[in-house]
Amino acid sequence: MKILVLNSGSSSQKASLYDFTDPLPPSPTAALWDGQVEWQGDRVVLQTRNSTGAILNQATTLGPRPEATVRLLDALTRGQARVLSSLSELDVVGHRIVNGGQELTQPTAITREVKTAIRSMSPLAPLHNRAELDGIEIIEKRMGDVLQVAVFDTGFHSGLPEAAAVYPGPYEWLRQGIRRYGFHGINHQYCAERAAQLLAKDPAALKLVTCHLGNGCSLAAIQGGRSVDTTMGFTPLEGLMMGTRSGSVDPGILTYLLRQGHTGQDLDEILNAKSGLLGISGLSADMRMVVSAMQEGNARAKLAFEVFIHRLRSGIAAMAATLSGMDALVFTAGIGENSAEVRAAACSNFAFLGLAIDPAKNLTSGSDRDIATTHSAIRVLVIHAQEDWAIARECWKLSLAAKAATQKHYNEP
Ligand code: ADP
Repeated sequence: MKILVLNSGSSSQKASLYDFTDPLPPSPTAALWDGQVEWQGDRVVLQTRNSTGAILNQATTLGPRPEATVRLLDALTRGQARVLSSLSELDVVGHRIVNGGQELTQPTAITREVKTAIRSMSPLAPLHNRAELDGIEIIEKRMGDVLQVAVFDTGFHSGLPEAAAVYPGPYEWLRQGIRRYGFHGINHQYCAERAAQLLAKDPAALKLVTCHLGNGCSLAAIQGGRSVDTTMGFTPLEGLMMGTRSGSVDPGILTYLLRQGHTGQDLDEILNAKSGLLGISGLSADMRMVVSAMQEGNARAKLAFEVFIHRLRSGIAAMAATLSGMDALVFTAGIGENSAEVRAAACSNFAFLGLAIDPAKNLTSGSDRDIATTHSAIRVLVIHAQEDWAIARECWKLSLAAKAATQKHYNEP
C-alpha cells in the first residue's frame, strides 16, 4: 500500500512516501522517498531523495506555500529522484494536523465536515492549519476522491486530566476553548510505544517522561501509555525554551510591553521568532551553533545554553512529580537525538533520584538506544523521532478498516 504523508512546518513543507506490506513490521521502515521544501530567509530550497540514493537538490523560487506541495507532488513523478509513474499509484494520503481541538482527537478520514472542523481551529494555529488545509485541497484537485487521513498533533493529549488542562484564569476561558491542548503528540505517543518495546515492558506499567527537543521543544508525562501532562498548552509557545520561541514567560511582561506601545502582532513576532536560543545568544536558533560558540568562550551562547538547560531540568522534574516517579527518560528530535551535551547537562541534576548516564554510551550515535549505566535507577533512552512513519501507520490502519467495512457491506445478504 503506497502512502504519502504531508507534514507542514512553520518554515518547511515535507512529504514522505511509504510502501507498507502486510503484516506491518513492529518498528519503522525507511521511506521509499522523501522531499522537503525549506524557506531559508529569501532562499527556497527543494530537496528530494529516494531509497536508491538519488537526490534532487535545488534552490528555487516559489510563490505562496501551496506551490511547495505542488512542487513536491511533481517531484514524485518527475526528475532525478522520482519513484512513481503517476500519482494514481497512491492509495492513501495522510496529513499531520497541528491542532484538532477537542473535537478531533483520533486519526480520521477527511470529509467535508472534518475540513470545516479543521478550519474552525485555524485561528489557534494560523501558520499550520491553513497550510494543512491547502495540502488537503491540492490532493483533492489532483487525485479526486483518494482516501485522505488527518492525524492530530493534539490528539494524544486530549485526555489530559482537568487539573493539567485548565488554566487558572477565569472559568469562562474554558467555555471559549482556552485550555491546554499540548502538541508533538504524534511523536510523544510513538516514543512511549517504542520505549516499551526497547525496555521489553508492558506500556501499561510504565511511567515515562519524553523530551521532544527539536526546533520546537516539549515534554510529556506518560503513564500507562496515556499523556497526563505536557509543557505546550493553548499554543505551541508555552513551556520550554526553544530555537526561536521563548516558551513560558511572565504574562506581566506582555501587558507591560503592550502599555509601552507594542502591538499584539509585535509580541507574536518577538515571542515566536526572536526569542529562545536565537534571542538570548544573538547568534543562532541552532543548538549546534550555540554549543560551538559556547565552547569558544562566547558568553551569550553560554547563557542561552544554561537557560535552556535550567528550564529543561525544571520541566522534567515537574513531569516526574506529576507521575510520582519515572521509569525512563526519553530524548527525541534534532537536539534530543544528537546533542550529547544537552543530554548530559539535563541528566546531571537527577543523580539524587539514582539516574546515571554512561558518558561513553551518551557519545554514541545511530539507532535507538539506552544510554543509562547498568545500575541507573531510571533508564535513559534516545529514540529517533518517526512522526511521518507513525502517521503512515494510522493511514494504513484506517485504510484496512475502510476496506473491511466495504467487504462486510458487500457480503451482507
Ligand atoms: P523540527 O522540530 O523542525 O522537526 P528537528 O527535530 O529536526 O526539527 O530539530 C532541529 C534542531 O535540531 C536544529 O535546529 C538543531 O538545533 C538541532 N540539532 C540537529 N543536529 C544537532 C546536533 N548534532 N547537535 C545539536 N543539535 C542538533
